Amino acid sequence: MGTVEEVRIAKRTGFCYGVREAIDMAKEASAAGKTTHTLGQVVHNEGVITDLERLGIQTVDTLDDVDHGAAVVIRAHGVRPDVMERANARGLEVIDGTCTWVIQEQKEIVKLVDEGYTIVLLGTPKHPEVVGLLGFAPDAIVVDEEEDWERIPRRKRMALISQSTQPPWKFEKLAAFMVGRSHELKIVNTVCPVTIRRQEDTLESAREVDLMVVVGGRSSANTKELTRLCGIAGTRAVQIEGERDLTDPAVFEEARVVGVTGGTSTPIEDLHAVTRRIFELAEAATPAGRTTSLPKSETTNHPTSGAA
Ligand code: SF4
Repeated sequence: MGTVEEVRIAKRTGFCYGVREAIDMAKEASAAGKTTHTLGQVVHNEGVITDLERLGIQTVDTLDDVDHGAAVVIRAHGVRPDVMERANARGLEVIDGTCTWVIQEQKEIVKLVDEGYTIVLLGTPKHPEVVGLLGFAPDAIVVDEEEDWERIPRRKRMALISQSTQPPWKFEKLAAFMVGRSHELKIVNTVCPVTIRRQEDTLESAREVDLMVVVGGRSSANTKELTRLCGIAGTRAVQIEGERDLTDPAVFEEARVVGVTGGTSTPIEDLHAVTRRIFELAEAATPAGRTTSLPKSETTNHPTSGAA
């Protein structure tokens, strides 16, 4: 008990550039004096939403909640084209925060529709990015876990494309599966490089520590994938949404070095808060009369996380 000496934050964590851009756009619009809304939560993180609300930026679920002339920020996931058209038709100031990588995906899927392929989209069916993509290709077949794949029909000309945050191994496995389902198979690899780099860094980190703490939304596909990768590295991992979920000092028993990583929607501040909480719990777990060895300062012991 009370053995934690070091906490290491994985390299290249914090918001990915797509999420960061959308948040910055909302803040800039608000700072310019515009009545600003975001269509859907710009990021599923309570702290960030509260900060935006303090700046007067409101999250709305529908365009009907935005008054004529006000600004509406489209988040990084993008939206269906008809949503964009309706926003313009209603006289709203549309600030398009769709990530450039997602825009590329949307262009690719339109091309596949024009070329007449039967399209298979690897993604989480109700994820906003997937919903947006389906607006460009309503007939695309969305599949996620392997048990869905048998639903994929046999067609002469098929194409495979992916939601940006799907794990690369799953995309490759599905591509191999689809070889047997089609005569001509076009593969458009739209797995986001930021996601791939984050997975590599997490794997590297997991190999060097005794326990990993993965921070991100419970339903976030890219967060769950980071947890799975820790398992592959043979390192025990706990997945949490934030520091408040860390309540049991026993989790850190016998862990000397703990790694911390986070999904693309997890701000670096949350990882720092988790780091502090781990040290608090390590202290709590220390039997009376024994001192936990803590680092002199957080920065000395934590590799700086770069931008995603
Ligand atoms: S994960 Fe990649 S594609 Fe998705 S918003 Fe972030 S940078 Fe863009």
